[in-house]
Amino acid sequence: MADRFTDLRLKMVETQIASRGVKDARLLEVLRRVPRHLFVPENRREEAYEDEPLAIGEGQTISQPYIVAFMTEALKLGGRERILEIGTGSGYQTAVLAESAAEVFSVEVIEELSRRARETLGGLGYENIRFRVGDGSRGWPENAPYDGIIVTAAAEAVPAALPSQLGDGGRLILPVGTAAQELVLIVREGKDFHRTELLPVRFVPLVTVH
Ligand code: SAH
Repeated sequence: MADRFTDLRLKMVETQIASRGVKDARLLEVLRRVPRHLFVPENRREEAYEDEPLAIGEGQTISQPYIVAFMTEALKLGGRERILEIGTGSGYQTAVLAESAAEVFSVEVIEELSRRARETLGGLGYENIRFRVGDGSRGWPENAPYDGIIVTAAAEAVPAALPSQLGDGGRLILPVGTAAQELVLIVREGKDFHRTELLPVRFVPLVTVH
């Protein structure tokens, strides 16, 4: 169903995402479909398709559309994967993953954000997402191994628990650093973990719970 946000969304995909080099056709279709404005506070809906992160409450932000696209493309999803997401936040990235993979396991440390995301995603009819409130830097070992792990808050270093929860061929993408951060991609090949730095970024910090 077309609504007044559809034009803004199609324009977002062309001018912010495809134009910057995101090529995965399936992903671009997903981004044209997922109603990003429903994941931001009601009084910010007009800004939902702008080229920037937005405040979602609790001191947190919904990531910039291009960054969501870039990180998702780096996971190279075909549709059959099991994905672990750390930092549910608004649930927008969660929706993009749920449309691009088979199952999503999403961990959020702030209970209120997890509750709201669950409500939004439930309202949209997603049934392939499992939510957990807690410290995601430990992963979610009970459901491992994962084909992909995505972290949407920056750690000072790669949390040791995460690479070990990847299956063979699995891909982990996360921002690493404090003031200066880089998006890091780790690909598992058997016992080897190949690390590449992809892009300078700026994310809220990953909270460590003791
Ligand atoms: N993907 C989200 C990004 C939200 S910002 C979106 O686009 O809406 C990062 C999120 O990570 C915040 O919601 C924050 O509360 C959460 N977070 C921070 N540290 C965490 C941790 N240790 N475990 C799980 N979630 C964490």
